[in-house]
Amino acid sequence: LTSENAVALQEQFSWLKPRQFPVGPSFGFGDRIGLATPGHIRALSDKQVFPVVAQQSVRENARTGRTFEDVLADAVFGVFQEGYKRGFGADADHLKTDEEATEAAKIGYTMFTCDPGDHVAIVESFSAEEAETAFERLPDTEGYLHEYLDQEIRIEGLGTLRFALDDLQRTAVKYAYAIRRAAAMYNRLSEQLPTGFDYEVSVDETETPTTPLEHLLIAQELHRQGVQFQSLALRFVGAMEKGVDWRGDFSQFSSDLRAHAAIARVLGPYRLSLHSGSDKFSLYETFSRETAGNWHVKTAGTSYLVALEVAAQKDPALFREIAALSLARFSEDRKSYHLSADPGRIPPLEELSDLQLPDLVSTLDSRQVFHVAYGSVLQSALGGELRRVLEAHEEVHYHALARHMGRHLGALRVTDNA
Ligand SMILES: [Zn+2]
Repeated sequence: LTSENAVALQEQFSWLKPRQFPVGPSFGFGDRIGLATPGHIRALSDKQVFPVVAQQSVRENARTGRTFEDVLADAVFGVFQEGYKRGFGADADHLKTDEEATEAAKIGYTMFTCDPGDHVAIVESFSAEEAETAFERLPDTEGYLHEYLDQEIRIEGLGTLRFALDDLQRTAVKYAYAIRRAAAMYNRLSEQLPTGFDYEVSVDETETPTTPLEHLLIAQELHRQGVQFQSLALRFVGAMEKGVDWRGDFSQFSSDLRAHAAIARVLGPYRLSLHSGSDKFSLYETFSRETAGNWHVKTAGTSYLVALEVAAQKDPALFREIAALSLARFSEDRKSYHLSADPGRIPPLEELSDLQLPDLVSTLDSRQVFHVAYGSVLQSALGGELRRVLEAHEEVHYHALARHMGRHLGALRVTDNA
């Protein structure tokens, strides 16, 4: 199961090559271990949703010691094993540099998610004078004034949006450099892939939720700079924590989403993309309805947790070692993640019977501890042991994945093919 052999298979069978997205909803089945694709395909059964079965970010690959090549090869073998011929996408996720993007393009990825988050300015604490000074220093101050200042921008289904000078200054300063970064990566990819590709821009890791005005400016500016993007990941209100359901003010979420969906429809249509989409069951129905099917959801950690559940059932001794390592690594591994887990609330492992172990995977505190420790576990000797258990019980693993990811698709109201 080498990447050379995956490429050789792809040359024989064109259905093993990732392809561009058709219209309609799409779902990202991230797989950090590399053994989940058959289970993901079974979750799809006959559902009308385009699957992205190779989807890992640069950060995930760094933590698991994999490459874009490994991730695609694992997905290709899973698709081949299941004989799934309806087509799939491959998403090189959270790309920060052009080099990362061009490397993934060479290997055959079809979707590129640009993360220009490091170039988003933190303007929330700026005074009006500071915002004005920073705005005057932008490379395209005149363009922004001409395009936006006091223009009445009519968005059907939302109303009229208008940038007063202070709004414009803050919004432009916040996103101008991120937009230029996203445009530069897009231009590099366009040269390399003249026949086309799918492009997502993600600004989902900002300090504050994206406002409709911010969304409007980001999308308009990307278009003005020639970027044909297919999806946009915004930061939504509330807590989008890893591996657990969303928490927050639901009526605020719904009304913001309605506004964002209206903008995406009028300026696109393009998909709204929900990142950290694992286990956000309370949002799915609204997300699917308000976007009228123009959505993309990314998951990854939840499939790793399914694998741990299988380990808890089939090899409790190994699971205890994984749990102990995850706890030991928590203070380090939690960095860069938004979490509310408190390891102090997790019962001592030695007090739990083997039958109680699977509950640890579903309880919030331990679930998040496991969720962020995937890199430490998969790069240790326990990673190989976990793979061995999953391979020995592959049908159990696939069945658990099909059930859990099937619940995601069901909650998103994905319909069956006629
Ligand atoms: Zn993201």
